[in-house]
Amino acid sequence: MVLKSLPRIERLDLAVITLPDWHPEATNQPTAPVYGYVIVHPDGPIVFDTGVGFGNEFIDEVYEPECVRLDEALAAVGVDTSSIVGVINSHLHFDHCGQNPLLYGTDVPFFLRQTEVDEVERDRFYTDQAWAIPPLAQRRLIDGDVEIAEGVTILSTPGHSPGHQSVVIESAVGRVVLAGQAVWELREFVEEEATVSNVFSDEYLDVAIDSIRRIKALEPETVYFAHCAAHRTDDALRTAEE
Ligand SMILES: [Zn+2]
Repeated sequence: MVLKSLPRIERLDLAVITLPDWHPEATNQPTAPVYGYVIVHPDGPIVFDTGVGFGNEFIDEVYEPECVRLDEALAAVGVDTSSIVGVINSHLHFDHCGQNPLLYGTDVPFFLRQTEVDEVERDRFYTDQAWAIPPLAQRRLIDGDVEIAEGVTILSTPGHSPGHQSVVIESAVGRVVLAGQAVWELREFVEEEATVSNVFSDEYLDVAIDSIRRIKALEPETVYFAHCAAHRTDDALRTAEE
């Protein structure tokens, strides 16, 4: 189903992290922004990514995050945290699910994939497990592409991580994609290039490119990312491809 008009979509400036020396992007940029988004849907606001959490000593030491509280970021765009009707994490790395716990113990559903949960459980360095995994009653395990509200569909876009997902918001007058970390920066999206540093492992390079192409095939007029402020309109995409 398609909404008559696009809901308001707001970017949440949730954190700035310092990239450690060994981070592949550290030579290009010393810090990186961490963006979440909120879709102010007629049924209630839906949050996409919750930024970095609080109190993990290892992450604090390595990434020196400057965090904004999720409820304050939401309030800044006129959204009351108690009105949230759903949370989607693009994936479960620490900088995308960190403030999930703000909504743990409520009845807000979290949409996630078993492949991503498996990674959290398999590798204790994958993320902060206490941030990443919602209480059982709030987990909504999904597979493939799933419409969770009118005009709001979660897409499977693996590559950066095994269970990475994006969201397409469709209306009769336009289409927007929240692409999370499907790419690190816009250039990769435009050029359909998966960089080794942004991809889970070498075996995921082709998968990551497929995900970029899937998103582009939807011909969204705007695509928003997790670590890059630039986004695209149809015009910009055409210009880049010429
Ligand atoms: Zn990540």
